[in-house]
Amino acid sequence: ELSEKLEATFARLRGRGVLTDADIKDGLREVRRVLLEADVSFQLTGEFLARVEKRAVGVTQLKSVSPAQQLVKIVYDELTLMLGERKEGLKLSSVPPTVVLMVGLQGSGKTTTSAKLARKLKAEGKATRLVAADVYRPAAIDQLETLGRDLQVPVYADRGTQDVVKIAKAGIEQGKKERDRVVIIDTAGRTQIDDEMMQELRRVKEAVQPDEILLVADGMTGQDAVRIAQGFNDAIGVTGVILTKMDGDARGGAALSIYGVTKKPIKYIGVGEKPDALEEFHPDRMAGRILQQGDVLTLVEKAQGAFDADEAKRMEKKIKKEGMDLQDFLSAMKQMEKLGSMQNILKMLPGVNSKVLAQASKVDPKRMKHLEAIVLSMTAQERKKPELLNGSRRARVAKGSGRPVSEVNRLLEQFREMQKMMKRMAVKR
Ligand code: GDP
Ligand code: MG
Repeated sequence: ELSEKLEATFARLRGRGVLTDADIKDGLREVRRVLLEADVSFQLTGEFLARVEKRAVGVTQLKSVSPAQQLVKIVYDELTLMLGERKEGLKLSSVPPTVVLMVGLQGSGKTTTSAKLARKLKAEGKATRLVAADVYRPAAIDQLETLGRDLQVPVYADRGTQDVVKIAKAGIEQGKKERDRVVIIDTAGRTQIDDEMMQELRRVKEAVQPDEILLVADGMTGQDAVRIAQGFNDAIGVTGVILTKMDGDARGGAALSIYGVTKKPIKYIGVGEKPDALEEFHPDRMAGRILQQGDVLTLVEKAQGAFDADEAKRMEKKIKKEGMDLQDFLSAMKQMEKLGSMQNILKMLPGVNSKVLAQASKVDPKRMKHLEAIVLSMTAQERKKPELLNGSRRARVAKGSGRPVSEVNRLLEQFREMQKMMKRMAVKR
């Protein structure tokens, strides 16, 4: 994994006071290996290292506190540049409706992402319409209509024709009539790039002159990411990219490659199957995530959205004053339940290792009830001072809550991990 390997390299470098030229060479060689293993192309990796190397000259001369830290900063800055430098949102046209054409391979997430985007725009107060222009599989139209119905977003579909241009035009026409702000056209994909698909997309593009052509690409694809992105960009010219499935294991490689070949901004990332699992893409945060320095900002924003603000404030104050106890742990778990999958959140925290992730991912809503039962079976004193919980007390709690002792132990272990994380976050702030 890219992040873990980079982290290991930099941990080694960070531990030292001085850096020699040889150290830098070693460090960069490691970075190179890591990037190539993450399926970043040779060319891109080479360009990246050349830039880092150029800036790293002179770092050894610095008598500052930590030259290694300086090097990390350079790598971080350059990674950010390689991911697009600035965050860019959807470009809205001054004359509504803004027309967004979604393109990509089959299964990349076009339909799901169209719905996610519509949901987001609607939440911003922009009336949005979806257009079902994937006519080759009837199920594709059904899928979009179902999503639209759930989100209460209108969907234009016409099962009476296979003329995609006609459908797209009619959908936009309807959007105009209904004074929609945005019209999103969901198109068909194939399992691989082919001429017929590109020709059809080109015809739609010429007919409707979209304001945005967004390439929806699977963030888990490795080497193929470059070829796919280049294929679409060369054939129809994309204006932006949405990377999906960024909730999986692959983090970074595809983003680097796709921006590298297209130089078109990555605008959003998909982080789950649900309609709310779409986030803005921040190059600097992604660089940070790649470097495993943690994406605390995104976490905080997310938390602000979903946390009960009063409860959060009360907790923060209390934790600052008296430390975290099991009651807080339970509240925190409940809050996090609201934030979506635990995995997503923990991945953004600095220094969270895969062991913790594996454990934490076991906390699903069903387990919340069990956690609660366990904590409620403790005495108030035990909740405040978990270290009181020796073997016999644990057995009593297990019996009281009707859960196995192993589960009580696991809870306490998670609690300790969270305590550690809270400390790390407190230091960051
Ligand atoms: P399309 O063929 O390009 O329209 O792809 P779909 O929108 O039908 O998505 C294909 C599959 O990928 C579906 O099972 C989606 O739920 C899933 N999917 C899409 N985006 C994401 C994402 O961000 N994360 C995860 N985990 N799954 C996703
Ligand atoms: Mg589809």
